[in-house]
Amino acid sequence: MALTPELRERAEFCHRLARHCTDPDRRDSLMKLAEEFAARADAQENDETGVYRLARMSEAPIDGPVATGGGSTMRASMPDRRTNRLLSLLSDDDYERLRPLLSHVVFDYKKSLYEASRPIEYVYFPIDGVASLVITTADGSGAEVGTIGSEGMVGLPICLGDRDAPSSVYVQVPGTALRMDAGLFRAELAHSPTLNLIMLRYAHAFFNQVAQSAACAHLHRVEQRCCRWLLMTRDRMPSGDFLLTHEFLGMMLGVRRTTVTDVMGALQKAGFIRYRRGHVTILDAEALHQRSCECYDVSKLEFDRLLGDTPTAPRADKKHRLISEVG
Ligand SMILES: [Zn+2]
Repeated sequence: MALTPELRERAEFCHRLARHCTDPDRRDSLMKLAEEFAARADAQENDETGVYRLARMSEAPIDGPVATGGGSTMRASMPDRRTNRLLSLLSDDDYERLRPLLSHVVFDYKKSLYEASRPIEYVYFPIDGVASLVITTADGSGAEVGTIGSEGMVGLPICLGDRDAPSSVYVQVPGTALRMDAGLFRAELAHSPTLNLIMLRYAHAFFNQVAQSAACAHLHRVEQRCCRWLLMTRDRMPSGDFLLTHEFLGMMLGVRRTTVTDVMGALQKAGFIRYRRGHVTILDAEALHQRSCECYDVSKLEFDRLLGDTPTAPRADKKHRLISEVG
């Protein structure tokens, strides 16, 4: 529950960030956020009971500006937080502190979420899109080294005490996400040990996924890796039907486009998928699982070990939930 001094502190914090912000759009949104916090603090002070009622804030759905690729905006209601695994693990108090700071944004294909060696301005909690952590070499070639979807967040360097990274993150499968200012998120991490622990657990799971993928690229056949990647993407999307280009598949697999055509063609011929004009439909997930290498199961089990409950398969025994371990 956010009390008046905390709201005043947040208003001041947003004002301070806005004063130092050179991007006019971002400065405006920070100023609006500061005004919103100040108005809530005023309303709270005027409350005759003197107690801030969380329920009052929750009555009105928080609508956020949805930024589109063309820079225009539209309004959309806040998605259920259980659609992102990390947000679903937060205690109600932690989530209610983050909630007013989150905006529902569109993940357009190829949208850059942060660039190598540039300050990370926002963190993102994907809802139904998928992003790729990409390393670009001096000759301009790019290779995917990590995948981020509804199980995680984009902006781990912020959780690890840094402000930028040598890698970039791009949207590879379009969708939506919840976005938050990186400076505000850093402040929330310092405020909550449970939020901090969940992010560190995710960082460990993500590191293990990247390590597994490095071994996979050396040891397993391209068809096995392609099946693994299709299953990983399906797990992060609301259905087994998603947009996926040859270009990104090639980047993910580290192979030429002709090889992508051969592998996807073979999977389609076998009846496991349908692939037309960059649109994939998973027809037989079990068959893909059988063709995949062990890395798919290894990474999945590691996420379950480190992050416990999932929105779709909560543990029955709540006493072992991650968030109870520190509080
Ligand atoms: Zn593998």
